[in-house]
Amino acid sequence: MSRIALIGNPNVGKSTLFNALTGLKQHTGNWPGKTVELACGEYDYKGKTYELVDLPGTYSLEGASPEEELAVEFLKEGNADCAVAVCDASCLERSLILGLQVLYHFPRTILCINMMDEAERNGLHVNIRELSARLGVPVVGISAAQKQGLEQLREQLRQLCEGFLPCTPLLNKGENWAILQAQELSCLTDSSQRPQAPSFTQKLDRVLLHRIWAYPILLLLVLGVFWLTIEGANYPSRGLEWIFAALGEGLGRLLEGMPPWLHGLLIDGIYGTVTAVVAVMLPPMAIFFPVFTLLEDFGYLPRVAFLLDEGFRRCGACGKQALTLCMGFGCNAVGVTGCRIIDSPRERLMGILTNAFVPCNGRFPTLILLLGLCVGGSNRGLQALGLTALVFLGVGVTLLICKLLHRTVLRGEESLFLMELPPYRRPRVGQVLLRAMIDRCLTILGRAVAVAAPMGLLIWLLQWIPVGELSLLGHLAQLLQEPAALFGLSGGVLLAFLLGSPANELVVPIAVLILTGSGGSEAELLPYLSLQQSLCMLIFTLFHWPCTTTLWTIYKETHSLKWTALAWLLPTAVGLGLCFLLQLILPA
Ligand code: GDP
Repeated sequence: MSRIALIGNPNVGKSTLFNALTGLKQHTGNWPGKTVELACGEYDYKGKTYELVDLPGTYSLEGASPEEELAVEFLKEGNADCAVAVCDASCLERSLILGLQVLYHFPRTILCINMMDEAERNGLHVNIRELSARLGVPVVGISAAQKQGLEQLREQLRQLCEGFLPCTPLLNKGENWAILQAQELSCLTDSSQRPQAPSFTQKLDRVLLHRIWAYPILLLLVLGVFWLTIEGANYPSRGLEWIFAALGEGLGRLLEGMPPWLHGLLIDGIYGTVTAVVAVMLPPMAIFFPVFTLLEDFGYLPRVAFLLDEGFRRCGACGKQALTLCMGFGCNAVGVTGCRIIDSPRERLMGILTNAFVPCNGRFPTLILLLGLCVGGSNRGLQALGLTALVFLGVGVTLLICKLLHRTVLRGEESLFLMELPPYRRPRVGQVLLRAMIDRCLTILGRAVAVAAPMGLLIWLLQWIPVGELSLLGHLAQLLQEPAALFGLSGGVLLAFLLGSPANELVVPIAVLILTGSGGSEAELLPYLSLQQSLCMLIFTLFHWPCTTTLWTIYKETHSLKWTALAWLLPTAVGLGLCFLLQLILPA
């Protein structure tokens, strides 16, 4: 089997090519001696199997980001038999810089010029044959999205792997050589028919990146996404609750005759907690993720980073942090790992330490629910407005904390960064739905359930073991009552946050179990929480310690207990501080 490395700038269509070549034969693989996981896939061609390894997208091989180091090392260590450097035909000059650097480190490379269709549409024609002659390496023009040119690519790869294809790169290495040569070679793009009228992207950017209007539009978009999530999730959530309740009753009847403790453990403990997590989490996730992914695929997310860049830089952070922040909406652990895209170690650390200030999918449903308790569940417009306000509060506090870190433990110059704004593209609806539903929803849900079942069991046991008049759980809640009251919370709610540390989605089901004494729908919380307690719980949901998965990820990324401890402390201190103030202002 031959191994082929796939490398290219972000957004050149590398994943599209990877999927088109390998189809469903994909898995993640470990690189010998390293803990890094890379996407791998296989395809068969003319009786041989080829393994494709998808290296992380990078802009150059000469910078110092971990992705760039990883890619260079992978190629230099001889892990691949040959490589495909993917370039973008519609901006050849820029993407060739990386292509040339790859050729320098690893001569057995095919230059693959993708997006030929888009370039043609923009009136650009790339002279593939001349490019190949000038560089001395095979060059193939393809349109990965249209699956055009793949056959020729497979054939050239076969010949290269078997050593039939001459490959002796002609590079003029000198200072800034890659940039200069890319400039020179990009003249092989014949742009005489380039249309003069502004493109769709330019027209849309005039509005979406407008000096003034861009911000209200961003706000409205966020509001719209949340409204859709809350309004849309309501009915399936109710439906699931109803189905689970009916199933639970049926299950209860089946288990009749069992000792009451076993019945309680299975139904109230395990079944109740798991189904509560599923009913509350699945519907909003099934709406939020696809919509968010569609915006990403459309090309709007890089523009969000562009719009927020100024704000982040004023606080001594990096504009790319806006992107890692967006990843944090999905999962803070993913956002923390995503901070690898930030080159400066100081700014990367800032991104890691503050990622948990935006709510992850485990906390969104809880926030929606608590907002429902505060403003009335039927007022969904107000709920969406509240959620938007909370998210912007999260972003605002992120900026403040960045500024604070910049002035104290993370002093230093802010760096400049270059980010391209890809053209707007029609999102691939089918693929996005599949990716968002299967990849994100199901894996995250699986994790939640895997944690929820044992936690439900533990909580129920704690509740069942009597110590004197109260259960063990009751004692613990009572012990926390006084310190919790200082922050407008009840002992039971604080205990739910502590026990929910493995996964934020557990907090509400645990709180229901503690406060009501049995598993059940979250609406049952209502009589147990005053307005002050609901509001404080809302704020504490937004700002408290990151879940254990995120903390573990932070430790793995920073290799430092000190920074991990600070990442725990910062949101907790903010949350407790705000709750303390709220509790002073609001009547109990
Ligand atoms: P990656 O970041 O390099 O992995 O890029 P993706 O594979 O995610 O592709 C980025 C965008 O380019 C997606 O919206 C794709 O649909 C689009 N794309 C990929 N290949 C082509 C192509 O050959 N032609 C056109 N028009 N769009 C493409």
